[in-house]
Amino acid sequence: MKLILANPRGFCAGVYMAIDVVDQLLELCPGEAIYVYHEIVHNLHVVERFRGRGVQFIEDLAAVPEGAIVVFSAHGVSPALRSQALARRLTAIDATCPLVTKVHNEAIRYAKAGYQILLVGHLNHQEVIGTRGEAPDAIQVVEKPQDIPHLKIIDPNKLVYLTQTTLSTDDAEVIIAALRAAFPNLREPPSSDICYATTNRQRAVRAIAPDVDLVLVVGSANSSNSVRLTELSRKVGTQAKLIDDKSELKAEWFQGVQSVLITAGASAPEDLVHDLIVELIDRYGGEVEQRDIYREEVEFGLPGTLKELMRQRGTDPADRRVIRKDSAAQLHQWLEERRIPNRTVDLTIGATA
Ligand code: SF4
Repeated sequence: MKLILANPRGFCAGVYMAIDVVDQLLELCPGEAIYVYHEIVHNLHVVERFRGRGVQFIEDLAAVPEGAIVVFSAHGVSPALRSQALARRLTAIDATCPLVTKVHNEAIRYAKAGYQILLVGHLNHQEVIGTRGEAPDAIQVVEKPQDIPHLKIIDPNKLVYLTQTTLSTDDAEVIIAALRAAFPNLREPPSSDICYATTNRQRAVRAIAPDVDLVLVVGSANSSNSVRLTELSRKVGTQAKLIDDKSELKAEWFQGVQSVLITAGASAPEDLVHDLIVELIDRYGGEVEQRDIYREEVEFGLPGTLKELMRQRGTDPADRRVIRKDSAAQLHQWLEERRIPNRTVDLTIGATA
């Protein structure tokens, strides 16, 4: 069987940073309870691994004892939640992805300028809940074109749209086109709110999926960008399965299948991809081909709130920074060590730095 690995896949800069925040806290505060508001990133294994190290995930700040450390997840939180943490004198460490914060800042700016904001996204997604909280009176969520007739518009000339960071670029375009048709003077954000990681993982799947019989997306069902990758594969005509790990593989998926594209959502750990490769090679034999479609060199530093805590605890934050892991190079070395036939094909169409 030919296994094609999409590059880029897996962890993005925001996820590396958010996971690193919890890792650093565990090291910085041994024996101290660490609470995380919501799943730090939407991945079952990441959350379970942290749980195994004593981290407590909560959905209500009331569950955190006064004065304790609480981490806000990569998806961001509303100002109301920040105030609640302050009122309870919690040590809040903010692991919100800077690209989510960018959307929050846009929401604040446009709301202050008197705009109504149409937030394209999934109503109940944690990120949308947080962004909406920045200006609840000014923001309405648009999930689909059919929502447009139900919007309550005060002045069609004072409207802007923003989007969730992890949408399907194709679906978002359809909704935005419908919004523009309904409101010709609709303003757009200064730059796309759909993040580079979401966009690039979708670009890679769009480029490769038509060449294979089956797409396997490693990721959790509540991971928006992972689900979008599965949908995109199906849209280009290739059957796709979203799996948390190799244990979910079913033999019937592989009947008549000779080529498989493996990708991973932005919150899915690379070791799960490695395990999946070994499992498939064990079962069906074959070779691995890495296809480089887009190069990513994005890196986010540790959040200021964590650096501040480090200083308070006598640690110099300069000694601790997020280390970006190059999954393509790592995988090549790992495959070589296991003598799994592999090659890399450079089809790079661009880069995000
Ligand atoms: S998927 Fe995008 S917005 Fe979400 S954490 Fe990663 S880089 Fe940030």
